[in-house]
Amino acid sequence: MFSYRHAFHAGNHADVLKHTVLIATLDHLLEKEAALTVVDTHAGAGLYRLDGDYAGTSGEAADGILRLLSGKKIPDAPAPAAKSATKKVAPEAEIPVADAIARYLEVIHDFNPNGGARVYPGSPFIVQHLLRDHDRLKLFELHPTDGRALSANIAQLEAGRQIAVLNEDGFGSATKFLPPPSRRALVLMDPSYEMKTDYGRVLDFAAEALKRFATGTYAVWYPIIPRPEAHDLPRRLKTMATKAGKSWLHATLTVKSSKITTDASGETHRPGLPASGMFLINPPYTLKPLLAAALPQLAERLAQDRHAAFSLDSGG
Ligand code: SAM
Repeated sequence: MFSYRHAFHAGNHADVLKHTVLIATLDHLLEKEAALTVVDTHAGAGLYRLDGDYAGTSGEAADGILRLLSGKKIPDAPAPAAKSATKKVAPEAEIPVADAIARYLEVIHDFNPNGGARVYPGSPFIVQHLLRDHDRLKLFELHPTDGRALSANIAQLEAGRQIAVLNEDGFGSATKFLPPPSRRALVLMDPSYEMKTDYGRVLDFAAEALKRFATGTYAVWYPIIPRPEAHDLPRRLKTMATKAGKSWLHATLTVKSSKITTDASGETHRPGLPASGMFLINPPYTLKPLLAAALPQLAERLAQDRHAAFSLDSGG
């Protein structure tokens, strides 16, 4: 069985990117009255305590949501570079916080009315918080412990038929909900990529989902790490979308170098996750301008060294 537990990573820079994009996407999709179904193929436990044992062990939120909230940057991290299709970064003092970041912080604040981020909502709670009564949420979580935690957390919401929690393989069975009766859906694919087969399974799942429901909005999170499968994933998703005649958007956020370093005593240090990306098929047209404003600020505020950067590309 797998060992990945999202509680160690909740609120890190990858969650900041993923959840900022998720909220901006949902805000647009929820402007229409017709019911929306959200399918979260890899849901996690749903809700996390950032002052709890798991999060405290790795402290990843300190360089993610907590840094964003504090407004403090690492002093010697210079302004990030745009990799493509983005503007020069303006000095922070001159620009107000971008709308998509403000909206993300607003949602985090809703879970922490006294300020800070002791409670960090995962994708299931973020989505449920934004949905209307007639929308539906389908949550898949295969890990037995996280599945139990998710069911218990969701039960507290007393959301009734609005939310279904399935302790099933999200890749194996989530397409059964496509297309939903209202023919409006957002599917979030957020595997842990603990097994390298996850990359291929994302592609197979996306291809099958697009075949069943070509007009759905599909969002894939992936880690940017030195592994061929990770490098290939966005390229292959882009080819898939283009061949299907669908629009796509690709956003990445890098916070530090991916290089393994050796210190004076000869000990090697792995950098941890340096970067991640979100790839969307059929993204809302409103997403690109929102991210064009938000990504430079995220890269600047979450920079851990001079390799911090972002990219934003779209097509179709
Ligand atoms: N989407 C969550 C969020 O944003 O808060 C985080 C999800 S975490 C990155 C990935 C989760 O997928 C883990 O909790 C893991 O146990 C679960 N998982 C792994 N393989 C799975 C599969 N085949 N089907 C469903 N869940 C799976």
